[in-house]
Amino acid sequence: MTLADAQPQALDFECETGNYHTFCPISCVAWLYQKIEDSFFLVIGTKTCGYFLQNAMGVMIFAEPRYAMAELEEGDISAKLNDYEELKRLCMQIKRDRNPSVIVWIGTCTTEIIKMDLEGLAPRLESEIDIPIVVARANGLDYAFTQGEDTVLAAMAHRCPKGSAVVEESEKQERGNAITSLLNFGKKKEEVVAEESEYHDHAPLVMFGSLPDPVVTQLTLELKKQGIKVNGWLPAKRFTELPVIDEGYYVAGVNPFLSRTATTLMRRRKCKLIGAPFPIGPDGTRAWIEKICSVLDVEPKGLEEREAKIWANLEDYLEIIRGKSVFFMGDNLLEVSLARFLIRCGMTCPEIGIPYMDKRYQGAELKFLEQTCIDMGVPMPKIVEKPDNYNQVQRIYEHDVDLVITGMAHANPLEARGINTKWSVEFTFAQIHGFTNARDILELVTRPLRRNNSLKDLGWDKLVKEEAKV
Ligand code: SF4
Repeated sequence: MTLADAQPQALDFECETGNYHTFCPISCVAWLYQKIEDSFFLVIGTKTCGYFLQNAMGVMIFAEPRYAMAELEEGDISAKLNDYEELKRLCMQIKRDRNPSVIVWIGTCTTEIIKMDLEGLAPRLESEIDIPIVVARANGLDYAFTQGEDTVLAAMAHRCPKGSAVVEESEKQERGNAITSLLNFGKKKEEVVAEESEYHDHAPLVMFGSLPDPVVTQLTLELKKQGIKVNGWLPAKRFTELPVIDEGYYVAGVNPFLSRTATTLMRRRKCKLIGAPFPIGPDGTRAWIEKICSVLDVEPKGLEEREAKIWANLEDYLEIIRGKSVFFMGDNLLEVSLARFLIRCGMTCPEIGIPYMDKRYQGAELKFLEQTCIDMGVPMPKIVEKPDNYNQVQRIYEHDVDLVITGMAHANPLEARGINTKWSVEFTFAQIHGFTNARDILELVTRPLRRNNSLKDLGWDKLVKEEAKV
């Protein structure tokens, strides 16, 4: 008997050079301005940032978005112009033209390097123009892509009111129960009272993470089925509806890239964090709900059957990917959760690249990944933090992978060499959370496989000469 065989393998973590492609975190304005309807985002940077946003946002830039660039000039950089006066002029213009409830300043690489004191300027200007100004340093020096949202939400967490500060009953309703009133829309008062009593008596719970409104409703309803009441979401639909957060509240994240927000809520707002796997895929959603139930002392019901039903419904997609391998180059921090779901679907995964790994915040997800590999009898993936894209391409060849999840920079060159790719950014913008959206994830994952299968019949699977290997 060998004891060693019985020991589960542990996950292997590595860190490379950080020489990889990803979106700049200022891209978060694209989805956050849509989510927070009364906000305005002002990116204080250079033409480089402007070019990036203009191109990355695609057709959205023609829809008069509620974001703009404050483009720094020579005079700003050499301190010939007065930062305060310049920003005041712009913010007055924004107030006049759009009248938002909040202006979010996004600091960039340049404001970091010239040490523009945005945090110092904001409170002064805020009291002068009478609009809240939230400062988030979502720059490319420190963060990657989705972490931009993390910096904005961490800054907003400071602006969530305390229960004692919200005196008006109507405002309490609006803030605490914006989501509940949405769910109760069109119902009679007695019905609402009756439904309120269906909730268990548990400590207040606030969710954090920006999701499209339909997904917010779905997840809130999933928890409602368990008798758990969600007291609010950070961010809410409007800045004026940010949830009340008091000491001792429970908070739970819906996305793996929100570690700063989680830390801020715990340290500054004295909340208790529910560390759960993230609600991505039916397995993740079930584990997420179960963990919340167990912390709030609620007996979960009907989850096993619900999960089984969703899996049965996915069978047509599972047939396509079962036994295939997937390689994550890593650029949006959703990688661990997606890999865990795909391994449960029957895939293998030699490597999960990821820009930044917070082992504490993602702890439950990492454990769940380990357990999933053991359950499915597949080798544990290697987790490569700050990957090196050049080395990764060599490893993709070595492992002969079936599908690479990667950014646009590598997608077409790899496709031309006969390697299936899926563009990773789509996972950030598609609806991937909760039980019902599992199909959407697999629709994305299987699309290149289905397409390339059809093309193979035409003999078009490789479009570069053999010697032109990268
Ligand atoms: S990496 Fe820096 S300079 Fe480039 S777009 Fe982002 S904030 Fe601007």
